[in-house]
Amino acid sequence: MNWPLTYVLALIVAWVIALLYYGCAVPRSQLLGPSLVRGQPGKKRVALTFDDGPTPPETGQILDILKAYRVPATFFVNGKQVSRYPECLSRIHRENHTIGNHTYTHLFLYLKSRGRIGREIDQTQAAIEAVTGVRPNIFRCPYGVRWFGLFSLLRQRGIHSIQWSDTGYDWVKKNTPALIVRKTLKSLRDGSVILLHDGCGARNPGEVSHAFTVTALPMIIEEIRERGFSFVSINEFLP
Ligand SMILES: [Zn+2]
Repeated sequence: MNWPLTYVLALIVAWVIALLYYGCAVPRSQLLGPSLVRGQPGKKRVALTFDDGPTPPETGQILDILKAYRVPATFFVNGKQVSRYPECLSRIHRENHTIGNHTYTHLFLYLKSRGRIGREIDQTQAAIEAVTGVRPNIFRCPYGVRWFGLFSLLRQRGIHSIQWSDTGYDWVKKNTPALIVRKTLKSLRDGSVILLHDGCGARNPGEVSHAFTVTALPMIIEEIRERGFSFVSINEFLP
């Protein structure tokens, strides 16, 4: 065995794996295509986004809080959840929040074919349009994972890819409401796109609870306002 050659090959493989990981999984990466991660600074604006709904009771509780504080938000919904809870999506739309596509079944896009990814996007667009009459122009990948072929599919459909710059890690079970608040605000700045969750994705109803997100939300809103920021729909950050 030629050891220097083995060493070089191992280095190349490690480099390719690292590059793939960066391109597909790191939220801010633009390697496979353009994604909005943060809005233009200058106006002290931040965007609140909620993924994986609509799911009762959390979506309704979050909508109650947003209404009480007069805060606009963006919801990236799963088509499967829309089919289960159309009335919940209808309320998001009626209350003038922005709705985005988060795939039909909340699948990892790793290694998925263009056809499969296209179907996930289109089924969700159709499910949302059937309830609201509007086809979204924004998409967020489940788990933030992008894959080859995705960006040409989005381009063909005039849809923007949206990632995030800040999150409360509210999907981690051990994170209490106080921790969710602290993590959300840790690096917050002008243009921040905040990721939180209101639903269970395509998992079974009741399998995932975001009660802690609901408890944390008023504290997050109050602290952000105290720092002088206003809340906007993600559409305000689009080019
Ligand atoms: Zn998700």
